[in-house]
Amino acid sequence: MKVPANMPPASKVSVSGFACRQCGACCRIKDGIVRVSDAEIARIAAFLGMAEQAFIDRETEIAPDRRGLMLKSRPDGACVWLTDDNRCRIHSVKPDKCRTFPYEWTNADSQKVCPGLAE
Ligand code: SF4
Repeated sequence: MKVPANMPPASKVSVSGFACRQCGACCRIKDGIVRVSDAEIARIAAFLGMAEQAFIDRETEIAPDRRGLMLKSRPDGACVWLTDDNRCRIHSVKPDKCRTFPYEWTNADSQKVCPGLAE
């Protein structure tokens, strides 16, 4: 789940009965970002068999507010880890923000993007 860079603090929600459509829309938000913490970098790098610094150098960039790192996006806005069939190539170790959406947080933008939340 990419988070709009200017997103206000996430609202806590209680989602029940949510069924992901696996449309990948939440990973394609044009100006969205996926921040990665040191722990998340270590987790993903280990999964990929990469040194943490190599992962940082190749797969992350500085967030727009220059307060930390985020995963890279493709020119069309899609997260680089999203496959053509809308799977996450790092699903088992993906960042917490991706892992917990929409079960622990959502916001107005994500509710517009996600068809599963629109119902
Ligand atoms: S890391 Fe995976 S779940 Fe998170 S935005 Fe990228 S493709 Fe989507």
